[in-house]
Amino acid sequence: MSAANKADKPAAAQAMPSGTTSGTPQLLLGHHLKQLKLPTILREYDKVAREAAREGIDHAAYLLRLVELELIDRERRVVERRIRQARFPAVKSLDTFDFTAIPSLNKMLVLELARCEYILRRDNIIALGNSGTGKTHIGLSLGLAACQKGFSVAFTTAAGLVHQLMEARDERRLLKLQRDLAGVKLLIIDELGYVPLSTTGAELLFEVFSQRYERGSTIVTSNLPFEEWTSVFGAERLTGALLDRLTHHVHILSMNGESYRLAQSTRRRKHSGAGADDQSANEIVDPQTGEITPK
Ligand code: ADP
Ligand code: MG
Repeated sequence: MSAANKADKPAAAQAMPSGTTSGTPQLLLGHHLKQLKLPTILREYDKVAREAAREGIDHAAYLLRLVELELIDRERRVVERRIRQARFPAVKSLDTFDFTAIPSLNKMLVLELARCEYILRRDNIIALGNSGTGKTHIGLSLGLAACQKGFSVAFTTAAGLVHQLMEARDERRLLKLQRDLAGVKLLIIDELGYVPLSTTGAELLFEVFSQRYERGSTIVTSNLPFEEWTSVFGAERLTGALLDRLTHHVHILSMNGESYRLAQSTRRRKHSGAGADDQSANEIVDPQTGEITPK
């Protein structure tokens, strides 16, 4: 663009005559942008061109605006893909977590962990506590934070993981699964301890911890204190070796307290004004969410 041009008219108004956004060039541009995988530029270039003309910004600023839009969208798409690949049963974040409901939990530590620096150090996290105290919620929130910070994440339950491992072994693709599990930056194993494991199951799970040791971070949630882990893994020696690896660099989240679900449904019932017994006759409490709906 010449300096003379700039003098009389806004640059973009001359630079982008409306004719360039229709006809063959537009078709070709659409084709090329698709091939270059620039869907946001394809979607936005015409609209942004009109804005650029209105505001009188030049070619470079127009292009910059488009490229920035593409970058922002691309980052969002990458995070979304990571979230899908993590296979979270639900997407939950710390924004919806009420720390006052669980005083035993170290809020500062959780907020620090949400910054994900522990993943760079390959530290582990173990959340221990009775049922309904938000362990899964915290696991999901830390998983989401890791996806947003650019780490690969996989979420599974202990029983689900053992099932997957056994199936992979039977189908002779155990090595591939083990490699995938070892490669993920953050592996979240929920609900260790709800179901006792078979000897093979315990060994396969031990292998996973072993292969991840000092290579990637693992979050484990469990309703059982460490002393009772032997009852899940069967063998004392195996449990010892596993705890050794898992707890070498570990942050413990102690989450013993009142069940949030139970507390919520009780609180709602109290707030409803009527006597609890009378009221409960007219409502259904969802055991998963604590949600109360009238009958
Ligand atoms: P746990 O895994 O310890 O059994 P969950 O994380 O499944 O408990 O929590 C049960 C339900 O209560 C979930 O819907 C969860 O989102 C909610 N919940 C638990 N604790 C809290 C909390 N402190 N603040 C907000 N929601 C919570
Ligand atoms: Mg849970």
